[in-house]
Amino acid sequence: MELLVANALDGLLVTSLANVRYLTGFSGSNALCFVSAREIILITDFRYQTQATEEAGTLASVRIEQSSLWTGLWAVLPTSGVDAIGFESAHLLHRDFQRLLEQSDRWRWRPTTDLVEGLRAQKDAGEVEHIRAAGRVAMEALQRTLDEVRPGMTELAVCGVLERALRQAGSEAHPFPPIIASGPRSALPHARASERTIAPGDFLLLDFGATSGGYCSDVTRTVVVGQADERQREVHAAVREANAAARAGIRAGMRGQEGDALARGVLEGRGLGEAFGHGLGHGIGLQVHEAPRLSRLAEEVLPVGSVVTIEPGVYVPEWGGVRIEDDVHLSAAGPELLTDFTRELLELA
Ligand code: ZN
Ligand code: ZN
Repeated sequence: MELLVANALDGLLVTSLANVRYLTGFSGSNALCFVSAREIILITDFRYQTQATEEAGTLASVRIEQSSLWTGLWAVLPTSGVDAIGFESAHLLHRDFQRLLEQSDRWRWRPTTDLVEGLRAQKDAGEVEHIRAAGRVAMEALQRTLDEVRPGMTELAVCGVLERALRQAGSEAHPFPPIIASGPRSALPHARASERTIAPGDFLLLDFGATSGGYCSDVTRTVVVGQADERQREVHAAVREANAAARAGIRAGMRGQEGDALARGVLEGRGLGEAFGHGLGHGIGLQVHEAPRLSRLAEEVLPVGSVVTIEPGVYVPEWGGVRIEDDVHLSAAGPELLTDFTRELLELA
């Protein structure tokens, strides 16, 4: 592992489950792994005996612990010939950090951040294929859901239709609880579905994802249930244009803030810059929010192979909001769209 050498480490203790999955393929809910130049050791518990060997057996040596994962770690470390060991400071409970301190006369512990996350930002072809599949599932579920939406339904009822459609289309899990927000609630960027009844002429914002092979998609469309009015059309057209400008202009090698500016410039040109209060997007992969970021403050360069969301939005308190979100693979040859569903303003009859 070049990463260990570059960081002057002999080994890395990985406690983020997403990072464990990335390195070993293991998808269970209780595990840690230890990485050295020589080997990857996956430690999990009895419930995962079969699954761990099946999923991780080719990449890691699997150790099943009856009591605590840490007992397993203290058993394997002495034979691994390591001294300086990194741990993931963003993914370690204080209680577990104290376990490391208790062993500090045996190994030198070094805090690290984002080592595996940095690798995860650059997707290989197989990972992109999983995200593309998750995008297809999400689009299919969206179509089925919009076919059933009627005025008089609550947001929760729409959410129920969507969650069922996602499962029927093949989603392994909901990467996050769908955001279903109608009328003035569509101005809340992270609203949860509520008991609110959808009235004719309301905006309906649906932000959700699907999971395929452990990888997430994340999409948003905003429609009008019934007939749109002039202002709804205007705001929707501005967001659509911002989405299109970003999809066309985004490239690997740009800074995150340059990507963000592609969409922000369009909205600022229409006097809507203030109403776009969040960043343009984020990386997606095994997790729905991961590196890299696209925002006004993001100085990091977008790596070749990253997959990011493009999600400009305009939010007007007590009136409503519009967001249009797509997933884009930043390949060496240019941006490749992974989610395709009309961005025209749909007026549901
Ligand atoms: Zn989203
Ligand atoms: Zn998103």
